[in-house]
Amino acid sequence: MSISSTSSIGSDYSRIAAGVPSINNELAAEILRNDFNIGAVALRRLPGETDCNFYACDGAGSEYVLKIAPKDELAAVKLQQLALEETQTKDAELPVPRVIRSTQNDPQVLIGTGQGTYVARVLTWRHGESLSNIPLRSDELLADIGHQAGKLAAAMAETADDGECPRHYWDLRNAHSVIDAGISHITEPELRDSVQYAQSLAMATVNDFDLLPQSLVHHDLNALNILVERTQNRNRVSGIIDFGDVTRTARVSDLAILVASVSRGQTDPLRTAEILTRSYAESVPLTESEVEALFPLVLLRTAQVLVTTERLAAEKKPGDGRHRSSAIKEQLTSLARLSQPYFTAVLRRASGYSPLPGASETIGHIRKNRLHALIAGELQTLNLSASSPVFDDADASKPSTLAEAAHRAVEELKPSIAVRPYGEPSFLIPALRADGIQQAVNTPLGLSFFVGNGTSVFAPADGTIVGSKKPNTVTIRHEPGNDVVFWTRITNVNPSMRIGDAVTAGQIIGHSAQGADASDFLTQAVTAQLLTVDPTEIDVPFEVRRDELPIWSQFSPDPTQLSGGVIGEWQPTLPKALEGRKKYLPETHPTYFEQPINMVRAKDCYFYDEESRAYLDALNNVTLLGHCHPRLTKAASTQLKRLNTNSRFVYDALTEYTEALTKTLPNGLDVVYMLNSGSESNDLALRMARHITGRQDFVIIDDAYHGYTSLVSDVSPSRYKYYGKPDFTHATLNPDRYRGKFGYEDPDAGAHYAQHTIDLFDELIAKGRPPAAFIYEPLLAGGGQVVLPPGYLAAIQAAAKERGILTISDEVQVGFGRLGEAMWGFQTQGPEVVPDFVTMGKAMGNGFPVAAMVTTRENSRRFDENGRFFATYGGNPVASAVALELLHILRDEGLQENALHVGEYFRQQLWTLAERHPLIGDVRGQGFYSGVEFVLDRETKDPAIEETLKICDRLKDRGMLVYPTGRYWNILKLKPPMTFTRQNADTFVQVLDEVLERGW
Ligand code: PMP
Repeated sequence: MSISSTSSIGSDYSRIAAGVPSINNELAAEILRNDFNIGAVALRRLPGETDCNFYACDGAGSEYVLKIAPKDELAAVKLQQLALEETQTKDAELPVPRVIRSTQNDPQVLIGTGQGTYVARVLTWRHGESLSNIPLRSDELLADIGHQAGKLAAAMAETADDGECPRHYWDLRNAHSVIDAGISHITEPELRDSVQYAQSLAMATVNDFDLLPQSLVHHDLNALNILVERTQNRNRVSGIIDFGDVTRTARVSDLAILVASVSRGQTDPLRTAEILTRSYAESVPLTESEVEALFPLVLLRTAQVLVTTERLAAEKKPGDGRHRSSAIKEQLTSLARLSQPYFTAVLRRASGYSPLPGASETIGHIRKNRLHALIAGELQTLNLSASSPVFDDADASKPSTLAEAAHRAVEELKPSIAVRPYGEPSFLIPALRADGIQQAVNTPLGLSFFVGNGTSVFAPADGTIVGSKKPNTVTIRHEPGNDVVFWTRITNVNPSMRIGDAVTAGQIIGHSAQGADASDFLTQAVTAQLLTVDPTEIDVPFEVRRDELPIWSQFSPDPTQLSGGVIGEWQPTLPKALEGRKKYLPETHPTYFEQPINMVRAKDCYFYDEESRAYLDALNNVTLLGHCHPRLTKAASTQLKRLNTNSRFVYDALTEYTEALTKTLPNGLDVVYMLNSGSESNDLALRMARHITGRQDFVIIDDAYHGYTSLVSDVSPSRYKYYGKPDFTHATLNPDRYRGKFGYEDPDAGAHYAQHTIDLFDELIAKGRPPAAFIYEPLLAGGGQVVLPPGYLAAIQAAAKERGILTISDEVQVGFGRLGEAMWGFQTQGPEVVPDFVTMGKAMGNGFPVAAMVTTRENSRRFDENGRFFATYGGNPVASAVALELLHILRDEGLQENALHVGEYFRQQLWTLAERHPLIGDVRGQGFYSGVEFVLDRETKDPAIEETLKICDRLKDRGMLVYPTGRYWNILKLKPPMTFTRQNADTFVQVLDEVLERGW
């Protein structure tokens, strides 16, 4: 063993435990002046492990760091200075400090003081925040760290030192002796076990340390030595500092130290390690032995730092207090719990190697050769993912109801045998964590056969029974030839064979052996896995996180063959659905998000995709009552079963509904045209206005969207911008108080914007083109979630009336109480505001297609001159029943009130984020209709377009659904179901905060 003895690190330990030389500011200033010709106007002490460090700034604003070490450090200091100067020469873009040579042109100078002799040197100061102060790290930042570390390693590798390297306390070759010397200070048993596990795991690696590629390395790439600069929400490495531990050793040490430090305190250390390794390996391709060494060394380094800091603390030695992080204990125990083979496989893939050597050959063999079915009988796939109809009547928030539903499905499939497929994203565990954020989804790495007790289990291929770690488990080793070896592991069987017995394909090897406890039926199924690694040596779980499947599948591949080829691997349908859309839908048909989601069910404020992931819905104003409200689905299905026809027949639901609806509107608005979509209702209102007034022109608000028929496209700037504005359409200013001419600070903004519209009316009249109607949304949706300023509609309406112009309130987005203050959006502008036409759709049926246009009897009669009105589906019995039940639920559940209070609370919470995130320029809205506007600069209000899309994508990745809107697509449109709770608002705000903080 080439491990140093405990005593050999004694002097190294005293070096790091000695504290730093005591130099005062006067002396530091003198050194700077006399030896480096720097007149410091500001000077301040900085922390350090062996050096006494000062920050200095001269009169010209140039910034430096002065480092003073004991004379014994001379050789080490020379090496550091050499490494710094050489790496600079090799790669001028590296963010490392520059060496400032002395007045004598030396990289370092010896200084004699009354207390002794010291070695002093000056480096340029690098700006940035220490990575240790940035706990939320984006993938982009991690990739940049790996990238810069790799570039540094590549430059260091070419540094021609004289090979005289001082010995080093932190060298991983010393780790065993460091640990032995300090382990007595670790008293917690689990922590001690973890330290010892780290030692044993790394033993072989350390023994062969000298066989690994050697290089001069920085050797202290810890988070304290990595500086980060933040521009808005973009974090990048701005400095790699402190070359105090430079040494010549195994090159991979640098990456191991980096991974150990940067992954500390991170929720997913393996992911951190993977990103760092991938980007590092782009500059320094790793050998396979280096990749294999990484996990043991990361663990060893963590143990070494832990033991050292505990020892320094126990002995009350100074050391570098910044290392004393409580996260290190947690890090060591959680690293020790990770699967080393899995970790290494991930890092192998990140370094460009196959994850598991030899696995693909074994998997290829398994695919090509038939296996005997494990269980006889008719097998049927039992899908237990979110897409399964099994869960239609279960409650996703109550796992017991899900398990019961699954159990019922097993029973219903009898006499066929239900088999749960490999790779299926399980919907059986709660999809949400306690804080309302989506939980990682699990998946089985094998098949589960739901068979009764005593069912015969057959050997899938010739082989030998080997030992199993768990009871009621049979493991067979198969060696079909050509150097291929694989294993079958079957659980919940009573074996009829002994270890060492030879078996032939199709021979009975045991019988199923589960109890009859229904509540636990899932864990009692006979499970079967194929394994490419020896299960007596490597633990391969039966269930893993679904995102880990690509790597785990190398250890435990698709075992379809164990079902006689009947139960195939679970496959997502998203790719096929997207292909189908491409083929059969118009090419401009949009999808949300760059990586679209295949939603398979929803309940209240949560969606579930086919991969069983949950998403909080902050986007769907259509589902006013929350998704799949049980009363509403019941009303729809009951009516659908009973009668569905057209309104030339007479049925009660239609008149009950129209009566109930008109009761919510001001007197006079009492004739209802039952329709099918928002576009249709606006189209009809515009057409009626033309007929009644005999005029052709319309005034609209700029940036509006009113629908897709030809007439409404002609009044929708976001549509006609593609084919040219019709000359009968005239856009007035968007009354946007954030960006527009009249701002929030102007109490008369409403009057000013209204005047602009009235002036337009007059201009048109003067031109001989008096408008037929003014169409508006009471809160502008496509226009950017703009709240109308007070007094705006009342002034316009009065002017319109005087000029014979009709008004249309498009309530398609905001009607039905969404704005909280009133049932209808126009009512929030004052009681005097009563439009001639009210159009509605979307939320009217909570997603069921039903729409309406309401007007006065007088208007209706005038239109009758034009012939009768009839729409086949308009107001059909199912649509009427659904719409009526919606009004009842809205009232019974007090949802308008909820919109008022929770909506206001939501905006308040969003405003608190604005204090910390300058990207947020404005938060506005009414009730449950809000917008968060992102800007690159609060002064110029330059829209943050790319950032907004990115934010939506990241929110989606964390299970929060929202999308951009507005002219620049830089505004989050927040319009959740009206059952949205304060807790939902808190969850959303928490995740948005994290997304902004983490940056990109
Ligand atoms: N008006 C407004 C304000 C809308 O937002 C929309 C749809 N986004 C429509 C009308 C058209 O409604 P539909 O898609 O139901 O035709």
